[in-house]
Amino acid sequence: MNATILAVDQVSKRFAGRVALDSVSIEVARGSMTGVIGPNGSGKSTLFNIIAGTLRPDEGSVTVDGREITRASAAEICGLGVARTFQISRLFSEMTVLENLVAVARGLDDRAAIALALELLEFLEIGNIAKKWGSELSYGQRKLVEIARALMLQPKIMLLDEPFAGINPRLQNRIVEHLKTLCAKGITVFFIDHEMRIVLTECDLVYVLAEGRLIARGDPHTVRNDSKVLEAYF
Ligand code: ADP
Ligand code: MG
Repeated sequence: MNATILAVDQVSKRFAGRVALDSVSIEVARGSMTGVIGPNGSGKSTLFNIIAGTLRPDEGSVTVDGREITRASAAEICGLGVARTFQISRLFSEMTVLENLVAVARGLDDRAAIALALELLEFLEIGNIAKKWGSELSYGQRKLVEIARALMLQPKIMLLDEPFAGINPRLQNRIVEHLKTLCAKGITVFFIDHEMRIVLTECDLVYVLAEGRLIARGDPHTVRNDSKVLEAYF
């Protein structure tokens, strides 16, 4: 087994000549909680889109569990155990929560998919909303259901795009506890955050992007005291 579950090697991406990512390299250890922070527009979502296969890099490569996936399709990458959530919720509003989960199951019959969905909702302490419509959910509930939906793929690694944005600190802390439980089970959690509070307390390793460049990398303590990080944020 590879100790490194995800490696991004010198990835660059331009949009109409504008540099969104400039030779970014990142390594994520299996079972770790790894974070990426950076101001708005620093390239965080672009990085996730490239890893998940919805964007192609102009240069560089991406390797998951020792296998190069730079030119693989999003479906193939998903099949290799990479699940993601989006910054903006993509749940189906005309389906119930349970249906939203069952709809994305892979390689399970209906019965097994329903059983897994209910188990995940219990795990995230939202079993009570299984029958609610997507359109009825609060913003915080959506964030949790997004995570449950990613877990339906029984992934090796989860890419979470701003899972804590816009929700109250109590729910943020609850989500952190759930993510830690996943890490303890060997699932890797790789998330983007715009704010620093959670990344800079909970992560094993933090990467900092600013204007498409990696400006710092280290444990939370190191990153918090890095002059380049303070400059990018304040
Ligand atoms: P972040 O998630 O850190 O806020 P993004 O990765 O969304 O940043 O964006 C990085 C830069 O790339 C921004 O300048 C943004 O405007 C630009 N960008 C992102 N996606 C596209 C796109 N599809 N077309 C053109 N420009 C884009
Ligand atoms: Mg973003």
